[in-house]
Amino acid sequence: MKKHIAIDGPAGAGKSTVARILAERLEYLYVDTGAMYRALTWYFLQHNFQADNFAQVRKLLKQVDLRLEREQNCHRIFLNQQEVTKAIREPMVDQHVSLVAKIPEVRQYLRGKQRELALSSNSVTEGRDIGTVVLPEADLKIFLVALPEIRAFRRWWELKQKGLETDYFAILDNIRERDFIDSNREDSPLKQAEDAILVDTSSLKIEEVVNTLLSMVVED
Ligand code: C5P
Repeated sequence: MKKHIAIDGPAGAGKSTVARILAERLEYLYVDTGAMYRALTWYFLQHNFQADNFAQVRKLLKQVDLRLEREQNCHRIFLNQQEVTKAIREPMVDQHVSLVAKIPEVRQYLRGKQRELALSSNSVTEGRDIGTVVLPEADLKIFLVALPEIRAFRRWWELKQKGLETDYFAILDNIRERDFIDSNREDSPLKQAEDAILVDTSSLKIEEVVNTLLSMVVED
C-alpha cells in the first residue's frame, strides 16, 4: 500500500522545507502544490490578468500547458515548454498568487493534477487544502503553524541568504494578506482538517520539526 502524508498550513510556517526533507528521508515523492498555483499566477501575470475577469481566466486556462518533470524526489515546473521553477518565487508572484488561488476554475484545474501526482507514489504533499480536499484519505495529516512575525522573519532571512534585500514589514503584510485571503475564500479555504495534528513551529528548529513528524510516520 502506498503512503500519503499531507502537510498544510499558512505561508512561511516551514511547510516546504520540512516537507522536502521529510520526503528525502523517507524516499517519498515531494509534491509542492503551492508551486502549481504560483506557476499559473506567473503565466496570468504575463498576460495582463485581471482577477475579476472570469472569461479571461477561462481562456488562459485553456492555453496553458502545465508540466512537472520529476527530478529525484521533487519536480521542475514547465509552462508551455518554458521552465519557470525559479521565476515562480518572484515577489510579484507572492503578491498575486492568493488572488489567483481563490478562483474556483483555477482550483478545479489544479486539484485533479495534484491528486493524481500525489497518489502516483508514496508522497509528502504540501499546500493549504491537502488534508481537507485534495487527499482527505491521507495516512498522516499535519497542520503546521507559527506566529506571523516569525514566519515573516524566516522569509526575509531566506531572501537575504539569496542576496535579495527586502523590507521585513512588507513581507509581514504580504503574509497576513495571503493568510486572510486563503482562510476566507469560499472554495477549499486554508483550514485544519479534523483529523490533522497541529504542530506549532514558532520555537522549533527545522530539524526538530522534521524529527517530530518522522516520529509520527508509521511504516509497514
Ligand atoms: O505554499 P506557497 O506559499 O508557495 O503557496 C502560494 C499560494 O498558493 C498560497 O498563498 C495560496 O494562496 C495558494 N495555495 C492554495 N492551495 C494550495 C497551495 C497553495 O490555495 N494547496
